[in-house]
Amino acid sequence: MKITLSKKSKIGNVDFENLEFGKIFTDHIFVSKYSNGQWSEGEIMPYGDFLISPSARVFHYGQAIFEGMKCYKSENNSLILFRPDENFKRFNKSSARMAIPEIDKEVFFNGLTHLLKLDSEWVKKGDGNALYIRPFVFASEPSINASEANEYIFMIICCASKSYYGDQKIKVKIEEKYSRAAKGGVGYAKAAGNYAAQFYPTLLAKNEGYQQIIWTDSNNHKSIEEAGTMNLFFRIKDKLITSPTSDSILDGITRKSIIELAQSFNIDVEERPITIDELMSSFEKGELKEIFGTGTAVVVLPIESFGYKNKDYKIPEIENPFSIKLKKKLNDIQYDRSLDFGDWKLKIT
Ligand SMILES: *Cc1c(COP(=O)(O)O)cnc(C)c1O
Repeated sequence: MKITLSKKSKIGNVDFENLEFGKIFTDHIFVSKYSNGQWSEGEIMPYGDFLISPSARVFHYGQAIFEGMKCYKSENNSLILFRPDENFKRFNKSSARMAIPEIDKEVFFNGLTHLLKLDSEWVKKGDGNALYIRPFVFASEPSINASEANEYIFMIICCASKSYYGDQKIKVKIEEKYSRAAKGGVGYAKAAGNYAAQFYPTLLAKNEGYQQIIWTDSNNHKSIEEAGTMNLFFRIKDKLITSPTSDSILDGITRKSIIELAQSFNIDVEERPITIDELMSSFEKGELKEIFGTGTAVVVLPIESFGYKNKDYKIPEIENPFSIKLKKKLNDIQYDRSLDFGDWKLKIT
């Protein structure tokens, strides 16, 4: 693989204690191009701007998908990826839905591991610290013909990150007007446009003092789907409930890991639809103990209150919440402080 090193590392200028998420990128990127029916082996080059035609199809029809994964550093300096095969599979599942050619496993993992070894100094030890990895692909073919492209660019970029919301809890709003995803649509794919479509309703919610939206089904806004870029768990009495994944819900890797970990703690987990009615009645009865979101960026994020029909409902504080116990267990695995659970860790070095 061709590797062009950056002339000077930017790492000396980075304040790792005060990182704004998603802004500080490492020194190198991986790039592979698709044309004539195949992906190139790819190459590593310095992070930097590049030229692209104004008629590249991605600008016009939004053919683009991405993944989000993290690389962790253990106390003895191993670089660890968490279930990267799952990200790879989902990458191609998202691609297939958007008529983007699937990428070869070898190209994906060769690029990823070379890049991580090269920029390993950017992965910091300690809870919350990780390198956030963003593989993405977009239609680069210069043509505004409204059909799938024949040329694509695949890239992996990485940014330094601390945990997304720190140790905060967030307030969310149950959405009853707008929808994130519909049956038969692209909600299960990490398609770029899904996120663009969330910004406006989320902006309205932010103006009302919420950080994120809880999306409900697009048919009648009665059952709860997921939030921003998180799957949701509801603890009612001592049971955890999470909506089943579907074509309108993203199949989160953190979600399925949390389900398995919860079961290993003998917590009852039900994957079934949960309605706003059930949420409200369990709240009224004092049986709603916790709500938390799960996702690679946030890992496990407790929700302190939710808004519904212009009223806020605050979840009372409890001792020893499941969210903390599950987050700790997951972090212990990710930072290699505890044994693997199944075959989740991939050690790069
Ligand atoms: C990425 C994402 C998630 C979380 O998935 P993880 O694999 O756990 O990171 C949940 N919902 C949406 C809409 C997402 O884009």
